[in-house]
This record gives sequence, C-alpha cells and structure tokens, in this order.
Amino acid sequence: PYDMLIVGGGPAGASAAIYSARKGLRTGVVAERFGGQVADTVGIENFISVKETEGPKLVANLEAHVRQYEVDVMNSQKAVKLSQGTEHLELELANGAVLKAKSLVLSTGARWREMNVPGEKEYRGKGVAYCPHCDGPLFKGKKVAVIGGGNSGIEAALDLSLIVEHVTVLEFDASLRADAVLVKKAESTPNITIIKQAQTTEVLGDGNKVVGLQYTDRATGDSKTVELAGIFVQIGLVPNTEWLRGTIELTNRGEIIVDGHGKTSLNGVYAAGDATNTPFKQIIIAMGSGATAALGAFDHLLRS
Ligand code: FAD
Repeated sequence: PYDMLIVGGGPAGASAAIYSARKGLRTGVVAERFGGQVADTVGIENFISVKETEGPKLVANLEAHVRQYEVDVMNSQKAVKLSQGTEHLELELANGAVLKAKSLVLSTGARWREMNVPGEKEYRGKGVAYCPHCDGPLFKGKKVAVIGGGNSGIEAALDLSLIVEHVTVLEFDASLRADAVLVKKAESTPNITIIKQAQTTEVLGDGNKVVGLQYTDRATGDSKTVELAGIFVQIGLVPNTEWLRGTIELTNRGEIIVDGHGKTSLNGVYAAGDATNTPFKQIIIAMGSGATAALGAFDHLLRS
C-alpha cells in the first residue's frame, strides 16, 4: 500500500505530495489532469515571490518539483470510489484498478459554473474572468459586469468597484440573494449599477477581446447590450466531490469539511484546497492547505 495517496494534481495535491515524499513516505498522486485549474489560467500575478507567471508555466514547475522526489504520478486517472477496506483505505479508479493506502489526501479542486452562452469559452481569459482577486487589476479604469447577485457576485462587485470605472451587476432573478448588508453597500456605491431579471445571452467580442454583452430583460423580453471590457462570472464554484457523497462529511454545497489539521470525517483521510470548506480559493491558499493536510496525515501515521 501507499503510505500517503493523494487524489488530485493541482497546487494542493502537488504541495501535499512534496511534503509527504520529504517525510520518506511511499507517495502516490492520482490526477485526472495534472495542474488542475492552473492549467486553464492565463496570467498569474498573486503567487507570492513570483511577480508574474502563466498557468502552463506554473504547472510545468509544479510537475518538475514533484518529480524531483520518488512520487508515483498517475496522470489521466479518475478516482470514482473511496472506501475503508479491512486493512487499508481503498481508492477505486475509473479503469477498475483499486489502490490501497494507509492515509489519503483529497485535493480534487473545483470548477466555476459557466453561463453556457455563445462567446463565453472563446473569450475566456480575454475578458471573461471568474476570479476578481486574480483578474480584477487587469480591468483598472475599465467597465465590467458581474454575472450573479449572490454573495460572491456582490462581493466581487464591491471589490471591483474600487479598481474599475464601472460595474454592472446582472441578476437572473427579481431579487438579489446576497446578504442585506452587502446589497445595501452595493446599492449605495456610485459606480455600481444593479440590473435584475437579466438573462445574459451572449458575450460580444471583436475577435481578440470582449467588447460587451447581450442580455434579455426577462420582465419585458427586450434584448439589450452593455458595452464593457470584462465579465466576471460569479454563479457558483462547484467542488469536484460528487463521487465522495455518502462517504465523507460534506457541506450542503458539497465541500469537504476539514478541521485545522486538514482532517475529514473519515479516519486517515485528509483534504486540502478548493474541494474543502476553506473560505478563500486561491493557488497560494491551496498550496498551504496541501502542506497542512500532508502534515496532518503524517501525524496520523505516526500515531497509528
Ligand atoms: P484544482 O486546481 O482544481 O486541481 C484539482 C485536481 O484534482 C486536478 O488535477 C483535477 O484533474 C483532479 N481531480 C478532480 N477530480 C478528480 C477525480 N475524481 N479523480 C482524480 N483526480 C481528480 N488563483 C490564484 O491564486 N491566482 C490566479 O491568478 C488565479 N486565476 C485563476 C483563473 C482561472 C481561469 C481559474 C479557473 C482559477 C484561478 N485561480 C487563481 C484559482 C486557483 O486556480 C485555484 O484556487 C487552485 O487551482 C485550487 O487548487 P486545488 O489543487 O485545490 O484544485
């Protein structure tokens, strides 16, 4: 069996793998796609000590660092089931193989819910963004929209209003779902406009970058256009934990519940990164929590 088996090869998993291998443990990483969300990221300017990098470059560095140690990297492998076997934890893969481990770190990350409208995929990273902490500064002095009037949408609008010229919030429903205190603040911010009952129908671009968006006013059925440079989609971050339902404790949003040591509800199983109930989802935070989970799992191995 592996001493520590890590499920997920994003920044959290890579970090856990290195911490595990440096303890001299037999370590394996199962990843559907090594690199995770970072592989889809264009510019990264908040990975502290690296002023500027690009997703694929950071992924190559992550992989090179992991491969510096004796770690079994099983890329393009999807985990489908976790169970407590008679002696060890057992992880079943989509190809039917079953891996055994004394401890496990779950770091399967998350995915942003997409609008699924024409132009969204085409202009991803060219004006269509999902992370205000990451990409907000790229739109300094420009006009942007935030799609979604829940807590993350209104927080994003307030955050962006300090950097950009103007923020239009588009909410599908007739009312905002965000906390009243956030809504009140957004409503009294001069450079935020809130449009309700608005269904975004298309991202408009000039071939290189976003120039606007089109939405339908659901009250009247009219189609309207907003000119802008950026669109922040804030309609939900979905953790990749569907396969764990019923096995370990999740929040009602599907996030793995961890304590300060990264411990989950199942003995010997730890978790880290965007798949967990950590309040903020960032590369540097995922890496920190990967280290925490690996050290937590190591501590568990010492005691068992
Ligand atoms: P992920 O990166 O999501 O990795 C999850 C890993 O698990 C992947 O290897 C995946 O293939 C694997 N996996 C999932 N399910 C399974 C399964 N069943 N079996 C096996 N493997 C599985 N953060 C920043 O700090 N700065 C930025 O500039 C920034 N920009 C971003 C831009 C975009 C477009 C996106 C989408 C995110 C951005 N983020 C940024 C957020 C950052 O990428 C995430 O917080 C971070 O990648 C989370 O790391 P993670 O390891 O928890 O999960």
